[in-house]
Amino acid sequence: ANAPSSNFLRAIVENDIATGKHKRPGLPSVITRFPPEPNGYLHLGHAKSICVNFGLARDYAGRCHLRFDDTNPEKEEQEYVDTIMDSVKWLGFSWEQDGEAWLHYASDYFDKLYEMAEYLIKTGKAYVDSQSAEEMAKNRGNFSTLGTNSPFRNRPAEESLQLFRDMKAGKYKDGEHILRAKISEDAMSSPNMNMRDPALYRIRHAHHHRTGDKWCIYPMYDYTHPISDAIENITHSICTLEFQDHRPFYDWLVDTLAEGGFFQRPVPRQYEFARLNTTYVVTSKRKLRQLVEEGIVSGWDDPRMPTLVGLRRRGFTPESIQLFCERSGVSKADGWIDMGNLEIALRDDLDPKAPRGIAVLRPLKLIVDNFPEGESVECAAPVHPHHPEWGTRSFPFSKELWIEEEDFMEVPTKGYFRFTPPVDDKPGSRVRLKYGFVAECTGYDKDENGKATAVHVNYFPDSKSGTPGADNYKVKGTITWVSAANALQAEVRLYDRLFTDPHPDAGGKDFKAALNPKALETITAYLEPGLAKANAEDRFQFERHGYFVADRVDSQPGKPVFNRITTLKDSWGG
Ligand code: ATP
Ligand code: MG
Ligand code: MG
Repeated sequence: ANAPSSNFLRAIVENDIATGKHKRPGLPSVITRFPPEPNGYLHLGHAKSICVNFGLARDYAGRCHLRFDDTNPEKEEQEYVDTIMDSVKWLGFSWEQDGEAWLHYASDYFDKLYEMAEYLIKTGKAYVDSQSAEEMAKNRGNFSTLGTNSPFRNRPAEESLQLFRDMKAGKYKDGEHILRAKISEDAMSSPNMNMRDPALYRIRHAHHHRTGDKWCIYPMYDYTHPISDAIENITHSICTLEFQDHRPFYDWLVDTLAEGGFFQRPVPRQYEFARLNTTYVVTSKRKLRQLVEEGIVSGWDDPRMPTLVGLRRRGFTPESIQLFCERSGVSKADGWIDMGNLEIALRDDLDPKAPRGIAVLRPLKLIVDNFPEGESVECAAPVHPHHPEWGTRSFPFSKELWIEEEDFMEVPTKGYFRFTPPVDDKPGSRVRLKYGFVAECTGYDKDENGKATAVHVNYFPDSKSGTPGADNYKVKGTITWVSAANALQAEVRLYDRLFTDPHPDAGGKDFKAALNPKALETITAYLEPGLAKANAEDRFQFERHGYFVADRVDSQPGKPVFNRITTLKDSWGG
């Protein structure tokens, strides 16, 4: 079968299951979570985290929670909650299991978080600091200097408690006080900056998208996250490498609160893996927003965006994104994954399942001079070359056809086997019009600049593909075509990478300097008439040209608009 390959996270989970490390009555041995902050659209990097977390739950009979980490009231909105839920489902995962929705919001824990903060104050493990933000930053020190204790560090617990309650009651302005942890007496000289009396709560007189104006103090991410994990009985809390230095605080917090009777043991454990960095994209929310707000792209779902809504609109399948994430592995060291791998995954996914179609993207008229005017002959082609059971599609052959411009050359180069005109006493070339007839070039029309405007041929009526006569014609070239009178004229969008630089924002570079001016070309193409029936999001392989999808926003019944997802072969890097 399609067994997922092993990686260090799977090894940890398997070992924990074997040793019964997280065994608790009535709970699965593996509970993970995907914890987005609802402050933007999900992108390819988030897909990686979704695949890792939901994938572990799926593979080890566990479950994965979707948890909105909504502790930053100013930046968060319901719109983002909705799109994140849509994207997780679209990607093929679900937080609904065993008749329950494992859907949580950190804001649902605000009361509990507050109660635990009071406990930490009462037990001397947290205090209210009244220094200014500047003093605090200065006294924290840096990697080469030790921190200095705050003058408020040893204020009596009762005083801190009263101040904290007054903070909650709205008696102070933003920034006047802050609640900090006191992990140990000498924590301010810890080599780990995250252990130097980290902030637990700050004052923010701000409206929250779910709790409204109930709160004017909000818990910090580093305080909220471990507690949310513990409340939800998470076993493996998986995050990216930059949180490695936060792990000692995570462990201290959940252990301290378990000691206080707030949670059952075993407590959750944090594990870090390398984030997914993909070439040719930027994923910083600030930069993506800039692309949208400056009109460089048409929106968050522009098919050139690395957002999941953008990748979906471009035509990438959920399966191809899962395959890409699976193949990119789980590593403990940062690195780059080539964008070409997503395109390969898309081809691998669609080649066996996408119906075929014919499109002429750069049309040139072909006139079959010996074919009767006004008549036509039906030609048949398989829906898919490896699925005869899917049957055939048919389309007419008639006097005037569209072929690709590149399928005619006035003066052929060596090895060119498509249409070329007669020269002196040498006849023009013979080419098979795929699924139709063999035809011989008899001449061409050109405009005042010498550019070919129409190619003339005579066809051989007994050469039709699939008939016994076909074998009598040995030709070296085969080309695709559509009947001019019957073709579906459609808008086709040819997409390319948004950036020409594989690392558009590395080392503080101006990422907009690397924008690819050719990332979108909109053309009018001629398609096989049956494609008029394509529904939004139907995907096809157009022979020679690659994989295409009927745009989910702009396609109308009978009038699809197609996006090229990717070409048939990698055209980048040789
Ligand atoms: P920001 O910090 O700008 O808000 P973020 O990318 O950290 O953005 P979150 O909503 O916090 O956004 O991310 C949700 C989860 O997705 C986190 O667990 C985070 O570690 C994970 N994640 C984000 N980007 C990547 C990535 N490139 N590779 C793997 N996991 C990622
Ligand atoms: Mg984040
Ligand atoms: Mg982040």
